[in-house]
Amino acid sequence: MPELRQNPATKEWVIIATERAKRPEELGTGVIAPPANEKDHCPFCQGNEKKTPNELFSYRTYGTAPNTPGWWIRVIPNMFPALMPQGNPDRVHTENLFLSMNGIGQHEVLIETPEHTHSIATMPQQQVEEICLAYRERYIALSQDPRYEMITIFKNHGLNAGTSLRHPHSQIIATPITPMHIRHRIEEAMRYFDDHGSCVYCDIIEKEKKIGERVVAETDNFIVLEPFASQSPFETIILPKSHASTFDSIPPERCKELAYVLRMTLVKLFRSLNNPDYNYVIFSSPCHERSLEYYHWYIMIMPRVTAVAGFELGSGIYINTVIPESAAKFLRETPFE
Ligand SMILES: [Zn+2]
Ligand SMILES: [Zn+2]
Repeated sequence: MPELRQNPATKEWVIIATERAKRPEELGTGVIAPPANEKDHCPFCQGNEKKTPNELFSYRTYGTAPNTPGWWIRVIPNMFPALMPQGNPDRVHTENLFLSMNGIGQHEVLIETPEHTHSIATMPQQQVEEICLAYRERYIALSQDPRYEMITIFKNHGLNAGTSLRHPHSQIIATPITPMHIRHRIEEAMRYFDDHGSCVYCDIIEKEKKIGERVVAETDNFIVLEPFASQSPFETIILPKSHASTFDSIPPERCKELAYVLRMTLVKLFRSLNNPDYNYVIFSSPCHERSLEYYHWYIMIMPRVTAVAGFELGSGIYINTVIPESAAKFLRETPFE
């Protein structure tokens, strides 16, 4: 069973993931080369459904059975989960100093397409739309469990972004805690609301539209920006223009527009930076704290074009070598269609 442990000095939580434990000598051995006949061995390819745990959810052709071919999106439990769904979130205090709890949670993999070599930037619009709809479905399903506080949806694309499996997939992790990282964002947004009586993200959208130079693209309901204080080159955020604090508040019919914006942004990054490794994350408020007037969900895309080094680790201050205004101009001018 994995365990959640809190650092008593910083209040930061860590998952001690025993299910994916490595022997110390296995660490630092670098990348495992994919086998020559990669598709035959890939557990996410069509026809290899039996190589994965039973599916939790899928979009598939009517009449086809679960865990057989015929799907175009498939959600399965992660084969090496960081957290496990059995148990309760009781806290354990040791020596009146160390806080830990069972590593309960749910760790899912969303297989985005049966096509092994696609990526969102090369998929048809319709497929990306289905991915967004599936994210929404899983967010809603997991948020029904009262033990979970946070549902984090994210994608690692490429080796430098932390994935070794090429087949396009995203991950969803439900956790029983709200980590400091998110709490800090929420508290700052709450403070801003106390001072100004408005949502800081709504205000950012309004001012960035007025200034214009950091806007990459805009549709009726979404805006794509290079943040004023981007932490690394080409950090890009996608914000819904109308205020909402949790991701599942997006109406299903708007997933089409979200998919258009997400795909457009990733195509522009793909073309500008020559298929960079990247992570994206959907930031949302804790799932049971709905309709917060001071927090605003959004997607952050972080191309992995530079490595985090000692100064960043030591100071928490990132050094960004690309001016966000230049990155925005470059992406604006990069063709999409
Ligand atoms: Zn595959
Ligand atoms: Zn807002």
